[in-house]
Amino acid sequence: SIPSVIEVAKPLLDVTGSDLMVPLLDGSQSRYVNLDYAASAPALGVVADRVTEALGLYASVHRGAGYASDISTTAYENARDTVARFVGAPAGYPVIFTRNTTDSLNLLASAVPGDTLVLDIEHHANFLPWSPRGRRVLTALDTLDETLEALENELRRQPAALVAVTGASNVTGEVLPLRRIADVVHKFGTRLAVDGAQLVPHRRVNMREQGIDYLAFSGHKTYAPFGAGVLVGRRDWLDKAEPYLRGGGAVTTVDTEQQGWRTGPHRHEGGSPNVLGVIGLARAVEALAELDPSEWYQHEAELREACISGLGQIPQARVLQIFSDSEAPVGVVSFSLDGVDSRHLAVVLAAEYGIGVRDGKFCAHPLLARLQQTSPALRVSFGVGSTKRDVTALLTALTDYLAHGP
Ligand code: PLP
Repeated sequence: SIPSVIEVAKPLLDVTGSDLMVPLLDGSQSRYVNLDYAASAPALGVVADRVTEALGLYASVHRGAGYASDISTTAYENARDTVARFVGAPAGYPVIFTRNTTDSLNLLASAVPGDTLVLDIEHHANFLPWSPRGRRVLTALDTLDETLEALENELRRQPAALVAVTGASNVTGEVLPLRRIADVVHKFGTRLAVDGAQLVPHRRVNMREQGIDYLAFSGHKTYAPFGAGVLVGRRDWLDKAEPYLRGGGAVTTVDTEQQGWRTGPHRHEGGSPNVLGVIGLARAVEALAELDPSEWYQHEAELREACISGLGQIPQARVLQIFSDSEAPVGVVSFSLDGVDSRHLAVVLAAEYGIGVRDGKFCAHPLLARLQQTSPALRVSFGVGSTKRDVTALLTALTDYLAHGP
């Protein structure tokens, strides 16, 4: 009786793999139900088309003089403007292409001239890079209001160069009030970096309006292929920092004794870049920019609500939440079922129902400890290619699993 979700099989955008059939343990085949967008989202159909087209003009960028090199270089460099526009970056903020969010935050960590303050709710990618260089950890409190007050008190007690927060939690989908955080942080001359890995795929971000000084995100979570990420932010620290990847393209002059390093994004992008990844990422954000935000947010909110209300009818289910006053979370829901081994359940969901979820501690061990989730949990996540049919499939499978016993 739990899966009462109305079946609306209408995605917001076409994604690759939506008609994938997967083998089940009993020898039959089933439609693949992808509930793991937060790990890596499927590429948009238009991204796949664009990458295929770009493959036809595959050539080295920057240092080639041929026609294909020219086209590839233009596409690669234009992608910076596309991304800058998409995230509302103020003029002059370099858009640096990296491998992913982890890479972007490590690059930023190498450039920060002082302490970085983080919360204990972060993904490891926004926790570990700061550790050798003066990381301070602030414990998040039960409400966002109290947490902001604690942040202000901590900065007053001891200034920091940077505050680095997640835009949306990869465990609970809760969204942080970035404008309010920026106002607190800027009062002390501190800068704000946002780990946008889970925010950018779900919400319009505007660095200027939200007061974000640095933003990092990953192409593979933003409906593009693996291997391309972004760091965009204020120029001065990045231009003064040691080059992140030393090599061809990052220098102005080299002799046997010394070299002159470039400034701007090229300083940190030594070596041949991921041209196809960047072209795909730029096409993905163009497509997201065309979405009507209210329709986009509504789509995910309905899926999230259907999922949470279905879980609410399962007495053994415990849905994870950090703050009691958070609003409008994105389509990421983590839960555990009392007496059920999450790993076992995840494997059964895949092998017997064709459903892909994530299990574990989601690279957020301090957060899970703080939520007293000592054993692994399960995470389901949605995006523009998800439908209510996917949520129904999950709830049906959970009911069935619990009825028959592990
Ligand atoms: N930050 C958050 C909030 C994430 O969810 C993830 C990935 O799961 C990352 C950072 C790291 O992203 P990537 O593996 O693309 O570097």
